[in-house]
Formats: sequence, structure tokens, C-alpha cells
Amino acid sequence: ELKNNTIILVLGASGDLAKKKTFPALFGLFRNGFLPKGVKVIGYARTKMDHAEYLKRVKSHIKTPTKEIEQQLEEFCSVATYVSGLYDQDEPFQNLEKHLQKVEEGQKETNRVFYMALPPSVFIPVSEHLKRNNYPEKGIARIIIEKPFGKDLESSRELDRALRPNWKEEETFRIDHYLGKEMVKNILILRFGNEFFGATWNRNHIDNVQITFKEPFGTEGRGGYFDEFGIIRDVMQNHLLQVLTLLAMERPISFSSEDIRDEKVRVLRGMPSIEPKNVIIGQYEKSLDGTKPGYKEDDTVPKESRCPTFASMVAYIKNERWDGVPFILKAGKALNEQKTEVRIQYKDVTSGIFKDIPRNELVLRVQPNESVYIKMNSKLPGLSMQTTVTELDLTYRRRFSDLKIPEAYESLILDALKGDHSNFVRDDELDASWRIFTPLLHYLDDNKEIMPMGYPYGSRGPAVLDDFTASYGYKFSDAAGYQWPVTSAEPNKL
Ligand code: NAP
Ligand code: NAP
Repeated sequence: ELKNNTIILVLGASGDLAKKKTFPALFGLFRNGFLPKGVKVIGYARTKMDHAEYLKRVKSHIKTPTKEIEQQLEEFCSVATYVSGLYDQDEPFQNLEKHLQKVEEGQKETNRVFYMALPPSVFIPVSEHLKRNNYPEKGIARIIIEKPFGKDLESSRELDRALRPNWKEEETFRIDHYLGKEMVKNILILRFGNEFFGATWNRNHIDNVQITFKEPFGTEGRGGYFDEFGIIRDVMQNHLLQVLTLLAMERPISFSSEDIRDEKVRVLRGMPSIEPKNVIIGQYEKSLDGTKPGYKEDDTVPKESRCPTFASMVAYIKNERWDGVPFILKAGKALNEQKTEVRIQYKDVTSGIFKDIPRNELVLRVQPNESVYIKMNSKLPGLSMQTTVTELDLTYRRRFSDLKIPEAYESLILDALKGDHSNFVRDDELDASWRIFTPLLHYLDDNKEIMPMGYPYGSRGPAVLDDFTASYGYKFSDAAGYQWPVTSAEPNKL
């Protein structure tokens, strides 16, 4: 664990990620006393700016609802400094080194955490210059890196080959911020800490699993970056696959990071690559009322773009627990709502006494408004034997009303400071995940005649979606008219 004398160096400190996520998370940890004593936060990027301007950026996404927090933010700013320099030459990094040494003056041992909030194009040179010029001689070094980790298996391996001589795996922390989300971190506890979930967690009881990511907005003028990647690389190969892995892995021997990651890799290795016949892709068009633009109306998107902004695909796991169970992944932009959820649909109860009684579903809602609920059948109170679908519900906001759920980035940066790798992606895990997706990605890239299906901005996705999920066994049951009760005490749809 990094205790005293630690520098957190944010590379790309002038950028979007640094401003929106990294600095707010560092401040959240700082004010709650989770950063090492005497920590210093140093920014580095090419942009020339003076101290005041830099602090303005650092503070731009930090809220200060109380005087106390305002005061704490001032204290945070007093440990923040900025150095500007290029990414591809030794000299600016030597200049940075002088600054680091000045800040560390008088300390015998010094630890440095390098946080790469940089575009992938400069990632390799920066990591080389840091190693050559700024690697701590006495103390611990850690490097935190952000997706994208390549575009396919080959480019991911290339990145790995470039990093490997300079940074040991134990010094490397690959962020997939979904692993920092509260509900995702809960998956192993729910599964292995509850006999009634654990006992039914297999192909004998579970019919299908859906993992869904929905965003209610499109690229909104920032399509340039997205168009190079598309929804499959942006969300599915990383975030949704991580969730799938945690849902499907066997019980680890312990909660140590390598025991957990060993099991994650094992389940990924048991998955054949996704077959194009089990995939649909879509691209959003103008909304039905004409107020929201289609993807290709975004000026930063090429007019001929075939980039998927929606995809649904089915993955299988060839092992005793899961053989034949479809894991249906769905992800899309410009849909009707925002949510990320896991929906586990159980099999039909054996026939005989009931006719068409809906299936049980266990839903883990990752965001927004974390909750776990089971849709289950119950007798409708009264004199008849009519059944109805009700829920066993755990809504975090209600049940844990006095606890604050940390931001994913707070949780992950703290793990990295502690040296806990459990919620970071290991090299072999990354390799195994790209192997599952790369043939599909190449197939879609290479076959120019494959066009994504259009869907209106604000809809649930392409029209074929419900037939697609039904064809893998998902039964949508509207019959019982299930309704989530929204009371006046909870005006928002939870
Ligand atoms: P960004 O704002 O585009 O870039 C960060 C900084 O890097 C910029 O302020 C700029 O600083 C420098 N930079 C930008 N383009 C460059 C180029 N072509 N060559 C050299 N330097 C360049 O990126 P970001 O959104 O912060 O993302 C940083 C990393 O985090 C990326 O790998 C991204 O994929 C990942 N990420 C971002 C988010 C997010 O919410 N933004 C979420 C997840 C992951 P100077 O010009 O001052 O040097
Ligand atoms: P739901 O919104 O009815 O969705 C159930 C599933 O059916 C989703 O996979 C959905 O796909 C799909 N679907 C929706 N319309 C369909 C259609 N016409 N044909 C085929 N499939 C369709 O979810 P629910 O679990 O029954 O919950 C109902 C509402 O109650 C939701 O708003 C939920 O948030 C709320 N609720 C909240 C809590 C809580 O906050 N604790 C607890 C229980 C229920 P897509 O995901 O792709 O749209």
C-alpha cells in the first residue's frame, strides 16, 4: 500500500477525462482522507497555462455544496501543480523530473502513480519517456491506463508488447470503470454469499441472461472518436463482457485479485468467438418527431459511415454450468431510456397446474438507481386463486439511504493506490476477451455490404430486436400487466 510520499501524476491533465472523472475522483478521495498523507497531484500536458487557469480546469466539474467542501477543495488545490511539455521528447520529461524532485525534496522514499488520461496515439511514447526519465528509484511505481486497449487482438498485443519491457504486470492497472460500479462489485457477493441464488445459478434453472446497456443520447457532435470504434468496441468487448464474466465465472478460491482473475480468464477461455449469425447491428436515424438528428447528420461522422451505434449479440459458454444458455448482450445509443442492467430469466415452471404463468426474472440494475429485484408470481389477495407478478425488491436508495455510493473512479483509484488488482483487467484476460470479439469485428469491417439496420432516435432499437431476443428463448411477458408501483413518496420512476 502506498502510504506517505506519494505523487499522483496525471498525464493529459488538460483533457476531458481528467476534468470530468480523474480530478473529481481524486478530490472525493482526498476530502474523505483516503489519499496518502502528504500526497501531491501533478498535471502534465502540452497546453500552456498558468497556475490559476489550471486550477480553474481542475475545479470545473467539482461541486461544492457546503462551505466545508469549498474549504477542502482549496486544500486540494494547494497540493496541485501543473507542468506543460511535449509527449515525444526526453527533454520535457527531464524538466518534469526536476519538478517532481523539487516536490519530493527531503524524502528518502518516493512513490509515483502515473495516470494516463491520454489518447491511445501517444500512449506508447509517453510510457517510454516516463520509464526512462521519471521512474522512481526508491519507492513504488504504478501506471494506470484507460481504454481503448487496442482495436482488436493484434493491436492489443502490440500495445502490450510496447509496454512490457518497461512496466511489469504488477505495476500496471488497466481501468474498466464498470468494475468500479457498486452493483458490478456486488455480483460475486450475491452469487456466492446466497445459497438460494448459488443453487439455481446454472443451465438447469436459467433459461437466458440479458446484459443491457442503453443510452438516451447520440454522439451529439462528438462522433469522430466514436465512429472509429463503434458500440461493440466501445461498450461490449469491455464493459458488458466484464459483467458477463463475473456472472458466469466459477467460485474463486479466495477473494484475492489473482484468484478472482484466474477464474475470469478461465470462463473467457471457455467461450467460442461470437458468430456473425448471432448478431444484429443498428444505426440510429432521425427521431420520429423529427427533433433529434440521425447519426450521419452529426458533422463529425463520415457520410458513408456503417458504424454500429446499436448491437445485440449472443455469447455462449462451453462448460458444464452454462452449455446452451444464451447470454444476450444489447447496447445502444440514442435509445428510449438510460439503463444498464442484467436480467436473468429462469425457466418455465413445469406444466400442469398453471397455464402460461410468467417466468421468474432476477434483475440487477447497475445504473441509474441501483437495485436488485426478483419478479415472481404470487396469489392475488382475495377470494380467487388468481396469480399476479410481484417483486421482491432491494432498492439501494431506500434500503441504504444513509450511505453514499462511491463513484466508480474513486473506488478504482483507491484500489490502485492500495495495489489491489481485483478490479483491473489482467493481460491474459484482455487477450482472451479480444479473441472472442475479433473475428466478428473483422467480419463487420471487411464486408462492406453489411449495413446496420436503421432505428429511430429515442426508440428501443431496430424493429427486429424483440424477435431476435425471442428467438434465443427470451419470453417477454406483458400478460400479467406487471407494474412497478410509483408512490407519491417516490415521485421519480425508480
Ligand atoms: P482528450 O481530451 O482528447 O485528450 C486528453 C489530452 O491529451 C488533451 O487535453 C490533449 O492535451 C492531449 N491530446 C489530445 N489529442 C492529442 C493528440 N492527437 N496527440 C497528442 N496529444 C493529444 O481525451 P480524454 O477524453 O480525456 O480521454 C483520455 C483517455 O481516456 C483516452 O484513452 C480515452 O479513450 C479514455 N477514456 C475517456 C473517457 C471520457 O469520459 N472522456 C472515458 C473512458 C475512457 P494537450 O493538447 O494539452 O497535450
Ligand atoms: P421492462 O421495462 O418491462 O423490461 C423487461 C424486458 O423486456 C427488457 O429486457 C426489455 O428490453 C424487454 N421489453 C420491453 N418491451 C418489450 C416488448 N414490447 N417486447 C419484447 N420485449 C420487451 O422491465 P421490468 O423489469 O418488468 O420492470 C418494469 C418497470 O418497473 C421498469 O421501469 C423498472 O425500472 C421498474 N422497476 C423498478 C424497480 C426498482 O427500481 N427497484 C423494481 C422493479 C421494477 P429493453 O431493456 O431492451 O427495453
